[in-house]
Amino acid sequence: MFDRLTTHLLDLVFPPFCQGCTREGSYLCLVCQNRINVPIHRCPVCNRNSPLGRVHEHCSSESTALSGLMVASEYRNPAVKNLIWHLKYNSVKAISETLATIMADFLVGSDLVDYFHDSLVIPVPMHEKRERFRGFNQAETLAKHLARNLHLEFSPALTKTKKTDRQVDLEKRERLENVKNVFSLTPHFNRQLLSGRSILLIDDVATTGATLNECAKVLNAHEPAEIWGLVVARN
Ligand SMILES: [Zn+2]
Ligand SMILES: [Zn+2]
Repeated sequence: MFDRLTTHLLDLVFPPFCQGCTREGSYLCLVCQNRINVPIHRCPVCNRNSPLGRVHEHCSSESTALSGLMVASEYRNPAVKNLIWHLKYNSVKAISETLATIMADFLVGSDLVDYFHDSLVIPVPMHEKRERFRGFNQAETLAKHLARNLHLEFSPALTKTKKTDRQVDLEKRERLENVKNVFSLTPHFNRQLLSGRSILLIDDVATTGATLNECAKVLNAHEPAEIWGLVVARN
């Protein structure tokens, strides 16, 4: 209750103004929204160009559970960077709706809505202690808004069972270790839902994609058709 109240109050003290140009009225004005570019797509394993960020066949190994990693916008765009910052560190929950619009625009603009029409939209989970502290899991609010926008099925299929260090503070190799075996299926989740389905795994930001890949490993055990990561930006 207290957390929810705090979040609500923060929304009130953070009135909507564009995070690109400070124009009042919304967190992202149409002019700045139109300036958001889709980045060059890269394979999350080798970081070389690849259509939609699909993992190259020769880059795929037993430890690769993601089919690819789609990135909806460029992190270096100041509006995108500010929006993510205020969602994540200033806990302005309402911004998840703005960022979900950027994700939806990306899927629409890339002609992928039909392709993913039957997908499950699954957020990267947050440990419950951290979620209680922050008041919400930003990946979850993003995934919910995205699913609602595109009429897809939202499914909180994953749980984070161990608290981990923040990935941002770690080196690449440490990041891989840090997130190993910390995710599992949500208790009582109907795992048959995953079988044969395509999955959109949602997070706000990815760096190496290690977290998304660990989540995908858990889901992969239940034989989905494929798992695509989708993030607002890659930093
Ligand atoms: Zn603007
Ligand atoms: Zn590759």
